[in-house]
Amino acid sequence: MEEETIFSQIIDKKKPAEIIFEDEEVIAFKDINPQAPVHVLIVPRKPIPKLTDADESDTAILGKMVMVARQIAKDFGLDEDGFRLLLNEGKNGGQTIYHLHFHLLGGRRLMWPPG
Ligand code: AMP
Repeated sequence: MEEETIFSQIIDKKKPAEIIFEDEEVIAFKDINPQAPVHVLIVPRKPIPKLTDADESDTAILGKMVMVARQIAKDFGLDEDGFRLLLNEGKNGGQTIYHLHFHLLGGRRLMWPPG
């Protein structure tokens, strides 16, 4: 299950990233190819490839990721106009990096439904 991804390399500080939050469980950094004025990735240090690979023992970390996203949204001033928090899963979801992560997108009006 454990595969070396670019996110593992960022977590291990083998690759650079614009890190905006980190603690012992979660790291958040700016997306290298931003799709909105604010585009932050929220990533658990634990290399869970996909949401469907998570189990009961990951409940707290998943909750923590949402709360980290909440705080970053507030820090970037997104709480007034809103934002989107999303997870791409697998082929149909458009996942490209198989280390679980949330995207936090904000700073402009986002379209719905997605393409
Ligand atoms: P996903 O398609 O949901 O797996 O999202 C992967 C995201 O990681 C994409 O939005 C990429 O732009 C982003 N990404 C890829 N490599 C890096 C990197 N080295 N630093 C920051 N973001 C990256």
